[in-house]
Amino acid sequence: MEKRLHVTDLDRTPGRLTIDLRALADNWRALARRAAPGQCAAVVKANAYGIGLEQAAPTLWAAGARAFFVAQLDEGVAARRLLPDEAEIYVLNGLETGTDPADYAAHRLKPVIGSAGELERWSDSEAHGASPCAIHLDTGMSRLGFESLPALRKAMERRGATRAVDLLMSHFVSSEIPSDPINAAQIAQFEDARAAFPHLRASLANSSGVFLPDRPIYDLARPGYALYGGNPTPGEANPMLPVVTLTVAIQQTRWVEAGATCGYNGQWTAKRRNRLATLLAGYADGLPRGAGATDAKEGAEVVIAGRRCPLVGRVSMDLCVADVTDLPEDAVKPGDRAEFFGAAANLDDFAQRSGTIGYQVLSSLGARYRREYVPSVR
Ligand SMILES: *Cc1c(COP(=O)(O)O)cnc(C)c1O
Repeated sequence: MEKRLHVTDLDRTPGRLTIDLRALADNWRALARRAAPGQCAAVVKANAYGIGLEQAAPTLWAAGARAFFVAQLDEGVAARRLLPDEAEIYVLNGLETGTDPADYAAHRLKPVIGSAGELERWSDSEAHGASPCAIHLDTGMSRLGFESLPALRKAMERRGATRAVDLLMSHFVSSEIPSDPINAAQIAQFEDARAAFPHLRASLANSSGVFLPDRPIYDLARPGYALYGGNPTPGEANPMLPVVTLTVAIQQTRWVEAGATCGYNGQWTAKRRNRLATLLAGYADGLPRGAGATDAKEGAEVVIAGRRCPLVGRVSMDLCVADVTDLPEDAVKPGDRAEFFGAAANLDDFAQRSGTIGYQVLSSLGARYRREYVPSVR
């Protein structure tokens, strides 16, 4: 018979994620207030940005979200199982290659369609009887979506197209940088499209878009990152509550002499006698390999015993190392924990100092961590 892990075994897991579903619900409500009188959806692609679709989707529904966005068909199927029938679920990738409109209709999923070929397949099928789709106009990402308004108009002239569609959308290139002139250019293009299809609901703003001074929210806002505690206004105070806390246990501490190096390829050199603490998580757990300081650059910090301590050297597959020299010797011992991000340490700051963005840190959260969910019931 297979040996099952006991709860006590799980309690020993060195990396722990605490996911605060109360904060998730509060963040959705705060974004919904900002989006009013427009509606506020919830973007739950990539396993709800790594925090767990199974917990996030029902929490967001209970908070009041009625429209959801996933990236892939299979994510939509999973979301449908977790959500009531009335939930609208849009699939951002559209009619994925190798799929059939019936695959979407079977779960009442709404593809976000971005080409004449896709729209033709959708409106020629019976699928839209179950749930109309969205159409996506590309206003600058050059990724998905109709390439121009004339191309979109032409595709929409096809018989049956109009009743197969219920939402017009586009996506910002740089909404986290309010001074970037591309925001206004995209809004202007989107306004033209809205005038061409006045009967469709309209959706443009992602998390940072909701905070742009022009408030380009229209009928439906589509925040993702901000729901999960990411800062939609970089450079300013984060208006969102932290949702995800990662702590990792210390396995060993050691003193090294000036001139000693730490980690693969000796990328970091001790400039004085340093005390190092080895932490039980690495890039196999989703930590960025470049999170540690090297002789050439600074790195990210973790909080140990209430104090910020730099990570040093290359992050290994299963381990990383923090410099704890400035803490009192008796303040750090094996079994103590380091916080990577959460209430004491900031997710966006950790990501930036690691050479990446919080979106990537969240969506890479490792499978080996023990996950603890703080329930949202109040
Ligand atoms: C991921 C995504 C969003 C959500 O973006 P955030 O910046 O996480 O709020 C919205 N719309 C589209 C098309 C997306 O791909």
